[in-house]
Amino acid sequence: MTTSIVTPSIETVEFIKEAGGAPIKSCYQCGLCTGTCPWNSVRSFPVRKMIHEAQLGLVDFEDENWWFCVTCKACVNVCPRNVNIIDVMRAMRRIPVGLGMGYVPEPLRITLKNIAALGNPMGESREKRANWATGLGVETFAASMEVAYFSCCVPAYDPKTNRMARSLTNILKKAKINFGIIGSAESCCGESVRKAGNENLFQSLAQSNMATFKEKGVKQLVVSSPHCYHAFKNEYPEFGANFEVLHYTQYLLKLIQEGRIKLSKEHNKKVTYHDPCYLGRHNNIYETPREILRRLPGLEFTEMPESAASSLCCGGGGGRIWEETKRGERFSDIRIEQAIGVGARVLATACPYCILNFDDSVLTMNKGDAVEIRDIAELVDEVM
Ligand code: SF4
Ligand code: SF4
Repeated sequence: MTTSIVTPSIETVEFIKEAGGAPIKSCYQCGLCTGTCPWNSVRSFPVRKMIHEAQLGLVDFEDENWWFCVTCKACVNVCPRNVNIIDVMRAMRRIPVGLGMGYVPEPLRITLKNIAALGNPMGESREKRANWATGLGVETFAASMEVAYFSCCVPAYDPKTNRMARSLTNILKKAKINFGIIGSAESCCGESVRKAGNENLFQSLAQSNMATFKEKGVKQLVVSSPHCYHAFKNEYPEFGANFEVLHYTQYLLKLIQEGRIKLSKEHNKKVTYHDPCYLGRHNNIYETPREILRRLPGLEFTEMPESAASSLCCGGGGGRIWEETKRGERFSDIRIEQAIGVGARVLATACPYCILNFDDSVLTMNKGDAVEIRDIAELVDEVM
């Protein structure tokens, strides 16, 4: 770490408030946030103290702690004063990102540069954005189509997770849905970019995607990632979005209920479900994925500890997916143990970030024989 910049001042407090940290004024220092934050089960993470330092203007902008928050919302849900702690964390990131002074994790700097230059976190070319669909016969979206499918950058470019997008495509084709993808004209939704404090970049991504969606005539957008869902549904209306946004689990359940998806084969395994924070706590979608799983013939469903509103984060929100987390501090490792602990053979989820983290944990923990990581779309595709 470099030299600390500690500035005790009223001006600093005002600066934090202007950057979006105004919720600090409501905090009465009860400490419930610290007690709830999952980081404190693996390392010290003094949320209450950090907020107190912000209230006093005694902030160290070189402190890496501001970058640990995974924006899981567990603390916000228990705060008796409704302090939006995520907004505070975001404000404390906007200052070093905006001013270019203070600590910003290097992997995140690189990721943000990649997104700014190429529209995706991996630094891959735009032309490769639709390569995940090779051989599947997916069409380019046209205004006459029922649905536009937005895969998210992770399944689009990551060969280990493109199984999410490929399975969903198989399902939509088998169900004879008139759908298409936008491909190279689309960019990262920017959800993590905003949480990582780069507001200007988020706004430019939102404006660019909105111009594309309008030009193409998108009326219904189905997405794989809860992060894309959150951005398009809750943040893009600031930029004029008026199309319908559905997480793919919502769309699949609708198709199952309408009889357009026939579940004919059996999935004879014990399955548990991990709630992604941006589907569950951020958007209150807890039952939809569970109902799909319960409808799969032969499947035995079981819950883990810390599920639904109390779900343990996978560790990938708030830009953390692009940073390395030390072994011994990975929430995803704890989740794998919890899934095995309830006797599940399959840990199902519905988020590319969760899949990335769980796949990595299974590999590094050498637990591949004990538990499989599956996206819900994969399970549905297999029983059709
Ligand atoms: S739970 Fe809310 S009021 Fe209590 S210390 Fe945390 S932010 Fe402050
Ligand atoms: S949002 Fe989650 S990770 Fe961030 S401070 Fe709150 S509980 Fe901790």
